[in-house]
Amino acid sequence: MSIAIYNTLTRSVQEFTPINDGEIRMYCCGPTVYDYFHIGNARSFVMSDVVRRYFEFRGYKVTYVMNITDIDDKIIKRGNEEGVPSSAVAERYAAAFLQDAERFGIRPATLYPRATETISEIIKHIQGLIDNGAAYVMDGDVYFRVSAYGEYGKLSRKNVEDLEVGARVEADKRKESPVDFALWKNAKPGEPTWEAPWGTGRPGWHIECSAMAMKYLGTTFDIHAGGNDLIFPHHENEIAQSEALTHEPFAHYWMHFGFLNIDNEKMSKSLGNFFTAREILDKYAAEVIRFYYLHTHYRSPLNFTHEGLDAAKAGLQKLQGLYETLPEAPEGTTPVDVAAFERRFIEAMDDDFNTSAAFGTLFDMARELNGVLHSASGLEAESRQAAFDFLHRAAAGVFGVLRTEAAVGGDRLLGDVMQLLMDIRAEARKEKQWALSDRIRDGLKDLGIALEDGKDGTKWKLGE
Ligand code: AMP
Ligand code: ZN
Repeated sequence: MSIAIYNTLTRSVQEFTPINDGEIRMYCCGPTVYDYFHIGNARSFVMSDVVRRYFEFRGYKVTYVMNITDIDDKIIKRGNEEGVPSSAVAERYAAAFLQDAERFGIRPATLYPRATETISEIIKHIQGLIDNGAAYVMDGDVYFRVSAYGEYGKLSRKNVEDLEVGARVEADKRKESPVDFALWKNAKPGEPTWEAPWGTGRPGWHIECSAMAMKYLGTTFDIHAGGNDLIFPHHENEIAQSEALTHEPFAHYWMHFGFLNIDNEKMSKSLGNFFTAREILDKYAAEVIRFYYLHTHYRSPLNFTHEGLDAAKAGLQKLQGLYETLPEAPEGTTPVDVAAFERRFIEAMDDDFNTSAAFGTLFDMARELNGVLHSASGLEAESRQAAFDFLHRAAAGVFGVLRTEAAVGGDRLLGDVMQLLMDIRAEARKEKQWALSDRIRDGLKDLGIALEDGKDGTKWKLGE
């Protein structure tokens, strides 16, 4: 049995066949770092994380690339508003993105390339397009010549003539066609710039993703993902400018995540219904938010409400409770066919990542197990182990919705306790209580925890 994926390119659910057996190369459009990311972005990042985790569950080796767009109009605007270089804005929010993604339980990507670190590849790509006639230079700007790529519109199912009519009104009259799009923008005062053979300037957004994807995943790779809003023009343009250069298919499967709305309205700052990921993470556990996201199919829109999150919290507690009870349950005699539940789980997830059906299976299993656990005969030991193991691999491993030992008793608590100890040590040092501060440092060292004092305070490391 194999995994079936809805491919936006073909508008159909297709059996997934990787380019290389057992391996997947996947690219997901990451954040533009001009602000904290919001709960809509988080939905796309979490869904993509679950797709990646499920492939790993099914035994694939996944190379997962998520870019960080660190040069863009919005970043430059924010830098100018704050009177700081745009690179400082990008640095700040890229760091915040990585922190919040970790809090969300999103597994780190294999690579997080940044646009500003890919400039030489971007320039080479654009030069190739100029050389083969698919791009032209106009007053230091470079445009992609849409007419040079015969398949333009194949992803979004848009027709070039219609697009031309629509774009004509506001089009820059210097362009050969109103639908031609910028690959490179001529230097403007107050903007960061790089040298290129046709003049200084900066890359356009679309070309950044093509260059980063191709640099790390090759000319053709398996899956390209992102939110629905990116189908046009971003992904359409990525395909055009990549395939016009390589004459090879860019990505085989295009996955798009449905949008998150709030109380049935588009989330926006002006409507006052805008939540950053960190705001929601301060109110709800990451596991609860993930469970809430995963209840809806990834392609459907999701209406975000606080009531929905509260209900998710209560529902998830049933799985968490079972996960915590199983290891301590007294040994009984009644078996449960856990393998049958696992087969149903796989069947659901193989069917274009039907996460709600997969959760249905987990809850059915929980109901049956709870019944047996509370019966006089009790749960047979092997089933108990199998159930725990399956919950661990599926609910914790694929979905990331359970607090496992490490998260409950380990990582988070350890982080808090370490902060407390480091604060006490800092106070001791201030009071010149050297014996106490040394005792803390040496005692931790004996436990395998190293403290490092630096400019920005003290950091700790395990296993030294
Ligand atoms: P951005 O930082 O705007 O480039 O977006 C980063 C990712 O989040 C992209 O894959 C977007 O498609 C996705 N995204 C943006 N807004 C939403 C939303 N309201 N719901 C779901 N995904 C979104
Ligand atoms: Zn992109």
